[in-house]
Amino acid sequence: MAVKSKGNYFDGKSAASHKVEIQHVTEGVLIKFADGRMRVWCSCDFRLKQDRPKGPIRLEYGEFTPEIIEVEDLSFQRGLKEKLFKRPKYLSNWLTLLAVLIIPSIIFWFIPLASGWLVHFVPVSVEKQLGNYVVNELFPDRRICQSDEGRKSLDEMVMRLTAKDSTYNFKVEVVDSDLVNAFALPGGNILIFRGLLEKNPSADGLAGVLAHEMQHVALRHGTLNILRQIALSGIFKLLSGEAGSFAKTYFDWVHILSILKYTRQLEDEADTSALMLLVKNKVDPSEMIKMYQILSKHSSSLPEAVSSHPDISSRIGRLKSLFQNEPEFESNNVLTKKKWESLKKICQI
Ligand SMILES: [Zn+2]
Repeated sequence: MAVKSKGNYFDGKSAASHKVEIQHVTEGVLIKFADGRMRVWCSCDFRLKQDRPKGPIRLEYGEFTPEIIEVEDLSFQRGLKEKLFKRPKYLSNWLTLLAVLIIPSIIFWFIPLASGWLVHFVPVSVEKQLGNYVVNELFPDRRICQSDEGRKSLDEMVMRLTAKDSTYNFKVEVVDSDLVNAFALPGGNILIFRGLLEKNPSADGLAGVLAHEMQHVALRHGTLNILRQIALSGIFKLLSGEAGSFAKTYFDWVHILSILKYTRQLEDEADTSALMLLVKNKVDPSEMIKMYQILSKHSSSLPEAVSSHPDISSRIGRLKSLFQNEPEFESNNVLTKKKWESLKKICQI
């Protein structure tokens, strides 16, 4: 009978830990909670991490933010490592043949998976060039609104949300267009359309949308999308000697739009980080939630449209429950009423 070990379970939603019992079973590990519930995590579903050689191991289950179980018990650790990493002997004879067969798969699958790691090595200066290129391709004739008072108010809002040690120098533009939308480009360019400004009931609501876009920049989501696409198509083009046509082919309309099309996981990351940013800067996140509800009633042809996402109601629900974890929160309006009025009129010169 498998030995039971003690572990600490974190549900991924709060910092509280819960005592559990954990043991090896054929499929993976069996977890018993204090209230009698039991779950089996399949070995194929969780990731194994260890920060220090002799420290506890961590089993991570699910995507951002994952459920975690920490286990100190060395015999459990040994058993788990053997289970996950041992290679059946009969396979060794086939190793060479497999290596030959899987090389194309490694190029095809591993590089996209490694994009999340590689993205941190892309210099900000390169991200800026990409962002400038994309924004000028998408909106070459855009009219940027900048009445003096409106611009000052917008700068004040951006400054309130920007960390002092931020890697990015955010360049936020209001574009004179009815689109109810906003999006962020790699490197720090953010476009807000007049339509979005007019639909916003409050400065704090706009700050919420802005915080979300700033987090797409800070978390390098657009750059990550580029890397994933280079991995899938660009590398093969370059390997086959089509380097000359690479840039032209890569930056076609479809590719540019897909840079701004984020997965649900990236949207959740941006939402969570935006909420934390707002709380940290004493801006009321419930106004962001209200704004999402308003945006969900509008459609847009651009990819970074809250409304176009089928999961918007669950995103709103998720934000509400995250915000409930901040009972001590006190807000301080991001702009005075007068400054908010001047920002709403930024396109009127
Ligand atoms: Zn987004």
